Amino acid sequence: MWQDGPTLIHGRAGMKILIVEDEPKTGDYLRQGLSEAGFVTDLARDGRDGLEQAREGRYDLLILDVMLPGLDGWQVLAGLRRAGVESPVLFLTARDQVEDRVKGLELGADDYLVKPFAFTELLARVRSLLRRGRAGLEPTLLKLADLELDLLRRRAARAGRRIDLTAKEFALLELFLRRQGEVLPRGLIASQVWDMNFDSDTNVIDVAVRRLRIKMDEGFEPRLIHTVRGMGYVLEEAAP
Ligand code: CA
Repeated sequence: MWQDGPTLIHGRAGMKILIVEDEPKTGDYLRQGLSEAGFVTDLARDGRDGLEQAREGRYDLLILDVMLPGLDGWQVLAGLRRAGVESPVLFLTARDQVEDRVKGLELGADDYLVKPFAFTELLARVRSLLRRGRAGLEPTLLKLADLELDLLRRRAARAGRRIDLTAKEFALLELFLRRQGEVLPRGLIASQVWDMNFDSDTNVIDVAVRRLRIKMDEGFEPRLIHTVRGMGYVLEEAAP
């Protein structure tokens, strides 16, 4: 079910994550990958244990499967919020349905990941949620001109037209939008989106930016992604 293996990325020391997942393989895999990434992890195998552990454990983040024995993910989340536990929650769901997302959002879920997913994508979401936890509430819609990125529904649109993006392209566009107007060196993009050193594969960034440009800039005015020679790329309305 996994598209790629765990990548070594260092979490901040002492960050605690509770995984609630009944499927042994998935649970163990998540636990191992997140531990290797530097997080302290606990694993609960059903909803009741998960709720109990989460209420007592002071976790920085919860990863909650939706379909669980005992209590399902929704019930666990509702129980947590009732108990005043405000840790961010990343839902894992096999059902990619907007109604599920809206339901979860109403209950106070912070993000979703639809199975199957790449481990790198999970890590990106985990880190983003942990950052958000520190910084307080962040907007879930990022915008520039007529370009919109909906972080909750994982959708991009330009001039109201839906743009289909891969997970990497989405992460890349999210980075550009969060730091719009800033020239982003390739090395920074590589470390933020690919979790790799710039030296390892310089071409990857240029290829990905080119693909993203074709999808979100071609046929639209104004162009939003600009190349800054010898420095990197910048997302803004006016050319630098
Ligand atoms: Ca399950």
